[in-house]
Amino acid sequence: MDLKQTLQTVFGFADFRPGQGEVVEAVVAGQNVLAIMPTGGGKSLCYQLPALMRDGVTVVISPLIALMRDQVRALQAAGVSAGALTSGNTDEETDAVWDALHAGQLKLLYMAPERLAAGSALGMLHKINVGLIAVDEAHCVSQWGHDFRPDYLRIGELRRALNVPLAAFTATADEETRTEIVAKLFDGEAPQSFLRGFNRANLHLAFAAKNQPRQQILNFAAARKGQAGIVYCGTRAKTETLAKAMADAGHSACHYHGGMEAEDRRIVERRFQIEDGLIVCATVAFGMGVDKPDVRWVAHADLPKSIEAYYQEIGRAGRDGAPADTLTLYGPDDIRLRRTQIDEGLAPAERKMADHARLNALLGLAEALECRRKTLLAYFDEHGVDCGTCDLCQTPPDVFDATTPVRMALSAALRTGEWFGAGHLIDILLGNETDKVKARAHNELPTFGVGTDLSRSEWQAVFRQMMGRDLMRPDPERHGALRMTENARPLLKGEAQITLRRDTIKTSARRPAVKALVKEEDAPLLSALKAKRRALAETQRVPAYIIFNDKTLIEMAELRPDSLDAMARVSGVGAKKLESYGTAFLEVITGAQDKVHPMRRKLALTDAGAIYDALLAAQVDLQHGPMGTQKPLTCSKPTLRNLSEMRPRTLDELRRIPGMDDARVDRFGDAFLAVLNGAQTG
Ligand code: ADP
Ligand code: ZN
Repeated sequence: MDLKQTLQTVFGFADFRPGQGEVVEAVVAGQNVLAIMPTGGGKSLCYQLPALMRDGVTVVISPLIALMRDQVRALQAAGVSAGALTSGNTDEETDAVWDALHAGQLKLLYMAPERLAAGSALGMLHKINVGLIAVDEAHCVSQWGHDFRPDYLRIGELRRALNVPLAAFTATADEETRTEIVAKLFDGEAPQSFLRGFNRANLHLAFAAKNQPRQQILNFAAARKGQAGIVYCGTRAKTETLAKAMADAGHSACHYHGGMEAEDRRIVERRFQIEDGLIVCATVAFGMGVDKPDVRWVAHADLPKSIEAYYQEIGRAGRDGAPADTLTLYGPDDIRLRRTQIDEGLAPAERKMADHARLNALLGLAEALECRRKTLLAYFDEHGVDCGTCDLCQTPPDVFDATTPVRMALSAALRTGEWFGAGHLIDILLGNETDKVKARAHNELPTFGVGTDLSRSEWQAVFRQMMGRDLMRPDPERHGALRMTENARPLLKGEAQITLRRDTIKTSARRPAVKALVKEEDAPLLSALKAKRRALAETQRVPAYIIFNDKTLIEMAELRPDSLDAMARVSGVGAKKLESYGTAFLEVITGAQDKVHPMRRKLALTDAGAIYDALLAAQVDLQHGPMGTQKPLTCSKPTLRNLSEMRPRTLDELRRIPGMDDARVDRFGDAFLAVLNGAQTG
C-alpha cells in the first residue's frame, strides 16, 4: 500500500493536514528530521504512518506515561500493533509487548525516557531491529525550558548506538530551543527541518477587558455547556473558588494546581481524559499532561504571562481540528501583577527586559485594533493569513484619536511626581474633589478637571490601554504607582499620535446564547452519536475520542452516511474502526434495525461494495422469479461477494463462480451480467 492508501485505511484520513505530507515523506525516506508543528497539527501521525511503511520497530520516546498508554490504545483501535514499556504496565502487558517484539509483529514501541537510564535498555533495543527513533515533545531536551527531562539527554547516545534515523517533534518554536535540540539530539548535525505555520484556523480567538470577570467566565462556560474546557487561573485559590462556582452553576467541574498531591492531580488528569465535558479550572501546572484532542474551549480568567504562554495554552483546545473557542480576560490588575512578577523575579536584567517585551506583545494583542489572528501570527513572523472569524474581525472595535486624552493622563501623572495609580489620576482629570485630592492640593493643578469629555469608565479604558501599549508602567517600589516610559515621550512632545479603542464596556448579555457545534437540525443526531460513543467508551474503558473524535462525529451528523461505504469516507473512519464501530454508528444514523452482513462490511472500502449492493438488489427483484410466482431462490453472501470482486462478464464465466449452479444462473444470470457489465463499462 502506498502512503495515501495507508493514511486512508489505517487512520481514516483522506488527506494530510497542511505540512504533514512533507514530514512523513522525509521520515519514510529515512532522513533525520526536526519538525516544529503547532499543537493539534498532527505530529503523531508523522511518525506513526512512517512506522507502518518502514521495516523494523519504531521506538517512540515520549515524556508522559498516561499519554503513551492512550496513544497505544488509539493505535490498537486502528488495528496497528503497538505497545509501551513503562513503569505503569502490568506484568501481562509487559509480557504481551515482549511476545509481540519477539514475533517481529510490533511496529511501534513507546518508551519513557527514564527507561533509557537502565543499562539493559540499550542491549534490548539492539536485539529488536529498531528502524527509526521518534522523539515526541523534543523540547524536553532543553535545559532552559520548564519541561526539561534530564533523561532526554540520553537520546543522542541512543541514536549513535543504534545508528538509525531520528525524527524529533515539538510545538515549541523559539530559536534557542531549536538550536539546543539540534545540538543534543543530532550532535549538531543539521537534520531536515520543517517549520509548519502557526495558524490554528479552527480556533476562535477573543479577548475581553475584565468586567465582573467571574460572570464573564460563567457565561462563556454556560454557552458551551457539556463541552470539555479548561479555565486557566492566575492563582491556586482562584482555581478552587471558580471550580466551585462552575459546579454551583450546574457544570461538571474540578480544580487542578501544583499544590495538590500528585495522586489527586493524576485523578483529575485521568477524569479529564476520559469524561465527556468536564471543566478543569487550573493553573498553568495543567499543561503538558493534557493530551485530549477534543477540548472544545479554553478560557483565561487572568492574563497569561507572555504571548508564547498564551499561544501554548489556547493551543490545547481543538486539537482534533473541530471548531474550538477561546476567551482571554485581562485588566489593569493583571498587567500590574505580571510586571511585578518579572521585576521581582531572580532573572538577570536582560532576561527581565526580554520578559517585559514578551508581555508587551501579549498586551498589544489584547489591545489590538484589528484582526487578532493577524496580530498573533505576525509575532511569529507569519504573514498573509486569512481570518474573518476572530472577535475583532467579527465586531471591529470603535476607535478614536486619543492623542489629547493620553497627553492629559501623562501630564497628570508627571505633575503629581509619578506617585499615584489610575484611580487618583482619574479623579484629578475629572475634577473630583476627593479628600485625597484636597489633602494634596491636587485640585490646584492645571490638569485638574480637564478631562470631563470622557466618563470614568472611558478613562479607565484609556489607562488600561496605555499600560497595554507600555506607555506607563506600575512601579513596584512605589506600590504600583504609574510611571511614564520612554515610549510615551514622543506623544508628550507632540511628535506622535495615538488611536485607542473606545471600549464602552458592554454589560454582558444576561442569558448567553448557546454555542452549538452543528446546525440546529443536526444537533439531535450529534447527541445521539455522542451517546453511542460514550456507551462504547465506557464498556471498553477508554477515552471517548479513542472510538471517534468530535470532528468525526460532527462530520457524521452533517453528512449522514447511509451505507458503510459512505461511512468509510468520513474523516477519521479507517478500515479497522469501520469494522469495529461502523455498524453501530450507522444504526444510530439510519435508525435501521437490520444488521449489515459481515461479508458486506468487508467490501465497504472498495467499489465492489456498490456492485454488491446492486447484485443484492437484482436478486431481491428476482427472488420469486420475473413474475413473482416462482419458488424463492437466493445466492449466498460469499457468492455475491465473489461475483462483485471477480466480475464475470459472460454466462460461461458466471458459471465458474462457486455457488452459481444452473438454477441460479437461470434465474439471475442476465440481471447479474447487466449489473457487472454496466459497472465495468462505466
Ligand atoms: P499534536 O500535533 O498536537 O501532537 P496529534 O498528533 O495529537 O497532534 O493530532 C491531533 C488530532 O488531529 C488527532 O485527533 C488526530 O487524529 C488528528 N489528525 C492528525 N492528522 C490528521 C489528518 N491528516 N486528517 C485529519 N485529522 C488528523
Ligand atoms: Zn481576525
